[in-house]
Amino acid sequence: MHFSKTRIAPTPSGFLHLGNVYSFAITAAAAQKYGASLLLRIDDMDRDRVHPEYLADVFQTLAFLGISYDEGPSNPADFEAHYSQRHRLSFYEVLLGQLVATGKVYACSCSRKQIETDFGGVYHGACQHKKIALDTPGVAWRIDTSQARPILVRALDGSTTIAALPEGMHHFVVRKKDGFPAYQLTSLADDLYFGVDLIVRGQDLWPSTLAQLFLAGLLGADAFLSATFHHHELLTDGHDRKLSKSAGDTSVLHFRNQGLTAAGLYSRIGSTIGKPIEKPKDFSALIPD
Ligand SMILES: [Zn+2]
Repeated sequence: MHFSKTRIAPTPSGFLHLGNVYSFAITAAAAQKYGASLLLRIDDMDRDRVHPEYLADVFQTLAFLGISYDEGPSNPADFEAHYSQRHRLSFYEVLLGQLVATGKVYACSCSRKQIETDFGGVYHGACQHKKIALDTPGVAWRIDTSQARPILVRALDGSTTIAALPEGMHHFVVRKKDGFPAYQLTSLADDLYFGVDLIVRGQDLWPSTLAQLFLAGLLGADAFLSATFHHHELLTDGHDRKLSKSAGDTSVLHFRNQGLTAAGLYSRIGSTIGKPIEKPKDFSALIPD
């Protein structure tokens, strides 16, 4: 198998942690194994959560880890000038327009709290028949998923899975209340824009993969529909808890400040997953041949 491009796609809303390192290293190893070029894509659409020190941490961490990439920003200034998602707003808007043209987009004025208290956290399209104008300020745009057909996902081991859109993704948001495109749309749009055909991500993003494939189907985005996915296991803290950004003591910055080397960090990941890992190349053993 050969792929032309894969990507690492951090969101600079916190310091990168061991879980990110694990995901980056697997992706870099997959790029090498399959002859794909590696893109660094930084998701900054949620500007309120983006902080300069988190953005800088992405570059410092990749340099510290010895993970090099072929395409993407080389530093925060280059990122802001050329690669920020704000530069692709017009492309996202074209795709949103195409979704609106399918007749499946509708405005929703429900608050998060309302969805929690009135619908038990699962949205079933309460606003769909209210016919709220799409240009009403402060409304989210949702997509009608009631006609969603089973979705085909291609995996790196050559297998395919057919899955239904999970309940948590029913009528998901494609444009947020602030008027900016939502994650599922920007992630799909960016993978199309950059020509990504191999997507490596954690298992926690499986519902997002299905949501994005659903959108790709509506948009006739064949390049994304035929992309290959690898959903890797999540690194846990040894107590079956997922490592998160809030867990400050697993941040790469913390380990660096303690004087840990990249090799030390890799072997720490290796002992967590029970595999001998000392350098980025060792992660290729975790990827299907
Ligand atoms: Zn609603």
